[in-house]
Amino acid sequence: MRFTHRTLPQRVVFGAGDAPAAVAAEVSALGGTRAMLIASARDAAQVDRIAADIPVALRHEEVVMHVPVDVAERARTAAAAARVDVLVSVGGGSTTGLAKAVALTTGLPIVAVPTTYAGSEATDVWGLTTDGVKTTGSDPRVLPASVVYDAALLSSLPRELSVSSGLNALAHCVDAMWGPRADPIDRALAEEAIRALRAGLLGLVGEAGAATDPAAEHPDPVEETLYGAYLSATAFASAGSGMHHKICHVLGGLYDLPHAQTHAVVLPHVLAFNAPNAPEAERRIARALGSATATAGLAALRRSVDAPRALRDYGMPESGIEAAVPPILAAIPANNPTPVTPEGLAALLGDAWRGTTDEQ
Ligand code: NAD
Repeated sequence: MRFTHRTLPQRVVFGAGDAPAAVAAEVSALGGTRAMLIASARDAAQVDRIAADIPVALRHEEVVMHVPVDVAERARTAAAAARVDVLVSVGGGSTTGLAKAVALTTGLPIVAVPTTYAGSEATDVWGLTTDGVKTTGSDPRVLPASVVYDAALLSSLPRELSVSSGLNALAHCVDAMWGPRADPIDRALAEEAIRALRAGLLGLVGEAGAATDPAAEHPDPVEETLYGAYLSATAFASAGSGMHHKICHVLGGLYDLPHAQTHAVVLPHVLAFNAPNAPEAERRIARALGSATATAGLAALRRSVDAPRALRDYGMPESGIEAAVPPILAAIPANNPTPVTPEGLAALLGDAWRGTTDEQ
């Protein structure tokens, strides 16, 4: 066995209902005396409870999906004017992304408090958008110093978004099986993450036999899904973006598609495309999903949670299929298990656009 695995340095605190005390402890451990609290106005009451226990110098509410550069610039200017020394983000991937944009230029430490399953909190990847074009990069300065997971903060997440966001996390696992730097540690983390995400998602939609079993290690389905989301992001951060993420990245940027739903729709198509030529991934994913094959396991899970099906439902034009082929082809890593041709990719995108899978 020969490989080099990189583990990112970060404190991770799990505690349902504990966010205010846990965030205060993390801020204090970082020596923070002037915090910039980044959170949209969506859930002011929850954020107020966290704000009460930390030294807030600035509360910043302008959060926009995919972090437009002008939004990032305003947040950086506000951070400098308020002389903050720590960033606290409470929200989904868009909120974490804004904190990362500030950390990228200031080097300020982040305490991230996620409220979706996007997983950005566990990666050193930043993203910024200029005129609809998203640029991403990795930088150690943007990796949150601490993450506080509190399942209670996700109680307000609508079911449809919980499902899409959980499947977004599952997509991290699947791509971590064959990403450009994928190694055996990533695959082991991803397999455990898939098991947890399946159990958590089934529990979230109330399916019997899922994570609601009191004897289970993580009996709460939201906690189980959060645990899976964290593992999925660590595996993905190490393995790097594979075919699935390259497709979603290009489509999301070109057609302004919602992040989690796009991942949820595209995933079964990429899995069906690559699994026949990725035997270890096939074995691990099938095992984690408790199914004879990876694709059948994902199809069954998608049926149970009523997963999003078609890109056309999210506003992508049919003409966008042809236009997306060249930029996606250019981005797919050379080590992708199944060789990708323009025709093969166009067929895959067409199926994802129409929502044609073996599930119907
Ligand atoms: P999001 O943060 O945009 O949230 C989606 C919607 O859900 C928003 O309207 C938000 O206000 C709402 N919401 C969030 N938490 C809620 C809760 N608990 N209750 C009710 N509503 C809630 O979406 P996301 O899917 O979490 O994140 C997507 C963004 O994160 C994208 O820009 C994506 O590129 C980025 N991302 C980055 C990485 C990375 O490693 N850098 C990884 C994953 C995602």
